[in-house]
Amino acid sequence: MSHTQTIEQELKHVIADIPDFPKDGILFKDISPIFLDANLCSKITDSFCNSLEEEPDMICAIESRGFFFGILIANQLKKPLIMVRKQGKLPGEVVAVSYDLEYNKGVLEIQKNKIKKDAKIMVHDDVLATGGTAAAAARLIQQEGGNVISFSFLMELEFLNGRNLLNGFDADILSLVSY
Ligand code: AMP
Repeated sequence: MSHTQTIEQELKHVIADIPDFPKDGILFKDISPIFLDANLCSKITDSFCNSLEEEPDMICAIESRGFFFGILIANQLKKPLIMVRKQGKLPGEVVAVSYDLEYNKGVLEIQKNKIKKDAKIMVHDDVLATGGTAAAAARLIQQEGGNVISFSFLMELEFLNGRNLLNGFDADILSLVSY
């Protein structure tokens, strides 16, 4: 890979388009090839960390592909990470919210009492599509007393207008690639 390529160009080069997965009509963005390139993973993590307008106190990463860069970012910033998971995966007391996504419906949960009151939170996931998943995660965080200051995504599917749904949170929205 040439040194002159931007992160955006490198990502566009490796992210694979998989038509009709997991359902007909969905163009699935496969991020698996990213993880075959450790240097690219470091560059992506740096890019997220260097683009922050305000440093968060915690990262909330959304299951499951949000976990990858969620933990890398948290580790680089030396901040704690909280998992936002699908229903029934987290032990102990949880708070839950229903949400819609591009090709499914579901429930997201976080463990209760893990977020300090007014803690500044960055929500992280791989893809911003309709924004339903990230908005649901942000509502959970607010319910638990957290202050969502930013959203970060590897990529954004602009034609689905996910930003509109997230604008109400008054938080920065960062995506490394737009389609
Ligand atoms: P949404 O709630 O519509 O913003 O959808 C975001 C979630 O769905 C993320 O967790 C993504 O992993 C997944 N997702 C939605 N659309 C796609 C897509 N075209 N390719 C890959 N993942 C997607």
